[in-house]
Amino acid sequence: MERRELSDGITRITLPLPTGPKHVHCYVIDGTLFDTGIGLGEPAWDEVGIERIAITHFHPDHVGGAEAAAAATGAAVYQGALDYAQCERVWGSHDWPDRIAAWFLTHGVPEPIAQELIERGHAFASFIRFARDPELLYEDSELDGWRIVELPGHADGHLGFMRDDVLIGGDHLLARITPAVGLYPESRPDPLGDYLRSLERTIELAPRIVYPGHGEPIEDAAARAREIIEHHRRRLDLIFGVLNPKPQSGYEVSRAVFGDELGPAQRRFAVAETLSHLERLVREGRAARVGDARAVTYTAP
Ligand SMILES: [Zn+2]
Repeated sequence: MERRELSDGITRITLPLPTGPKHVHCYVIDGTLFDTGIGLGEPAWDEVGIERIAITHFHPDHVGGAEAAAAATGAAVYQGALDYAQCERVWGSHDWPDRIAAWFLTHGVPEPIAQELIERGHAFASFIRFARDPELLYEDSELDGWRIVELPGHADGHLGFMRDDVLIGGDHLLARITPAVGLYPESRPDPLGDYLRSLERTIELAPRIVYPGHGEPIEDAAARAREIIEHHRRRLDLIFGVLNPKPQSGYEVSRAVFGDELGPAQRRFAVAETLSHLERLVREGRAARVGDARAVTYTAP
């Protein structure tokens, strides 16, 4: 646990992650702890002065330490309503790895890769100790002077917390990494469309500074948002260029876009990311979805 005092009266707590990007930031501002890390080790939460805990989104590196942080401090946990519903569905159920693997099969992922995802999923899920029954937050809710803004995309129920001109941004906006935007079973149908709108919204909100879950604070949020929009426009064009009259699965398109060399975990993100772009292209009239619920494929329109 590395602790650092930043401007705006913010304490940044950086916790290690076993996988890339190898660290995650939590922030403490006037008694509110934003995000809780993945839940490995035992951060000394009781030494930081925490009165309430706020979660930006349910991904393991943000929510996995929530139960422990709440237990150590006695603080109430606040989480987005949609985000908590998805959190329970994914980390609170035993059959999620099987459901997601079955869904990947319908998108052309070969059986051995799907099987490996199931095994890893089961091994992983038991570590994610989110806090049960949090106080639920919605667009325009308020928490100790912070206004809640829904910023769907990287996660369907991703929240930003805005006070004055400071935005606690979770993984919505990162300085060096492009946040992953994937389609998953039971997720909103057009996550990339959601995300592009959330980026436009960020430009309108015009925060002076964004404190992200990974990497350094972002001082020109509008410029970074525009860069990421541009990145996805280019990737949409690239994927559009891969489509032709012959039906291809999301898996096949992901190989054309991300290459053949990925391990199962990276392939999972590559397929989900490819699918979010394919679904956006369908809505833009630049792709067609064909097949049925057992085998989904895409063609040029
Ligand atoms: Zn995330």
